[in-house]
Amino acid sequence: MTVETRSLTDELTEIVGAAHVLTEQELISGFVTDWTRRWTGHTAAVVRPANTDEVSAVLAACHRAGAAVVPQGGNTGLVGGSVPMHGEIVLSTVRLNRIDRVDPVGRTIDAGAGVTVAEAQRAARHHGLDFGIDLASRDSATMGGIVSTNAGGIRMIKNGNTRAQLLGVEAVLADGTVFTRWKELTKDNVGYDLPGLLAGAEGTLAVITRVRMKLVVPPRATKVALVGVESVGGALEFVDTLQRSGLSLEAAELMTRSGIDLVQHHKSLRAPFAEDTPFALLVEVSGQADAQQLLLDALTAGESVIVDAAIEDGPAHRLWNYRESHTEAVGAVSTTPPVKLDISTPLREIESFLAELTVRMRDAFPGVRAICFGHIGDGNIHVNLLDVADDQREAVTDMVLRLVARHDGSISAEHGVGRAKAPWIGLGRTPVDLQLMRSIRSALDPAGILNPAILPSNPQP
Ligand SMILES: Cc1cc2nc3c(=O)[nH]c(=O)nc-3n(C[C@H](O)[C@H](O)[C@H](O)COP(=O)(O)OP(=O)(O)OC[C@H]3O[C@@H](n4cnc5c(N)ncnc54)[C@H](O)[C@@H]3O)c2cc1C
Repeated sequence: MTVETRSLTDELTEIVGAAHVLTEQELISGFVTDWTRRWTGHTAAVVRPANTDEVSAVLAACHRAGAAVVPQGGNTGLVGGSVPMHGEIVLSTVRLNRIDRVDPVGRTIDAGAGVTVAEAQRAARHHGLDFGIDLASRDSATMGGIVSTNAGGIRMIKNGNTRAQLLGVEAVLADGTVFTRWKELTKDNVGYDLPGLLAGAEGTLAVITRVRMKLVVPPRATKVALVGVESVGGALEFVDTLQRSGLSLEAAELMTRSGIDLVQHHKSLRAPFAEDTPFALLVEVSGQADAQQLLLDALTAGESVIVDAAIEDGPAHRLWNYRESHTEAVGAVSTTPPVKLDISTPLREIESFLAELTVRMRDAFPGVRAICFGHIGDGNIHVNLLDVADDQREAVTDMVLRLVARHDGSISAEHGVGRAKAPWIGLGRTPVDLQLMRSIRSALDPAGILNPAILPSNPQP
């Protein structure tokens, strides 16, 4: 630890109290490694401020000391963006965990950045409402984290992404200045959408301390179907049939036979269908009283592409388990930390992208297993690559992301760029676009102390 860092640690201790500046190795180990265990960094201190004033004082002190800071919420981001790979101070939002208000009339929730998605859901449900974002990491992922990554998740097809839920934000800039835009208006076009700019900024523009988010009216009842299909085209055709059926589509998730097999073994589940199919589609729908009949009609209409189907009343945890356990199963069985590439393509390209990916993986990386699944209705596929040797990581990532670009897709559909995809950011954005991002960054953080190693940053003087 340098003399400068030691005196900064003292200053941070004065701000948040000794109990909330962690420096002991055993206390900080959970903060310096990410959920996938692929990214492990190091830090002189993890700071846990209790409110916006303390966040402001912490950032002002780091700014004066020229110390870089990585904001961290639930640390479930899958791209290494919350990990201090270069010895940055970790600013944890774990104590910003208060839900200040649920307004059942305006249908909004005011919550600290460290409140988890599951806590927000519970608070909303207490008032007969729901939180519009849902994802399998709900018990750990935080409001600050989902805003900063502009998370999508399993309800995006119905409610839109996190940016679409965001009404107001309180955030602290790198020098400690507090920025607040705290409206509950869905229509408010006075100048730039600065809260929207912070959404997806991956902690590079400000530390979010509180958010005001929209809530949604939950469907009265849902039906869940797990449908075996022969092809990706068939899955998309069935999604289209459902969208035209008068039902409201709440979720549409694609899985492959190999992914289902993996989950089945890992979780000791029964095979979902009597007959094996190369793909399975999980859909959740809501609608009028005759939702069951409409769903059966849609399944009959889709006979040409559907091999088998199982239907249950929502929430249908048993059927969802096949989908939601994918990330855990993949992590458990891979002999190396999986390479996780979260991509999207236009719907018309998904089938050819996946077909080409299968052939290229087999030819170029025969020892690597690819397990693909994801939010197919949004064109989003999580490409998980298992058993990738250390010296293959870069080449296999390069191959997949270039293939995505050739199919007019995005190298980051919902997890962000983080460290995992930083070298490939040019595949998704033009030089002018990247330069504009740098300009915005230097306007908000001229000293470049906020998460400096990710997204396009300016060379330091
Ligand atoms: C099992 C599993 C399932 C998942 N499913 C989905 C899914 O369906 N959809 C999806 O989009 N993602 C998914 N994820 C990824 C992850 O949960 C999301 O990216 C989530 O938004 C991260 O939230 P977090 O609080 O854990 O953020 P962290 O991982 O702590 O941080 C993520 C990024 O945000 C920044 N950040 C965090 N908090 C703040 C703050 N208060 N202010 C400024 N910057 C901040 C960090 O610096 C980092 O760059 C999944 C992850 C897992 C493990």
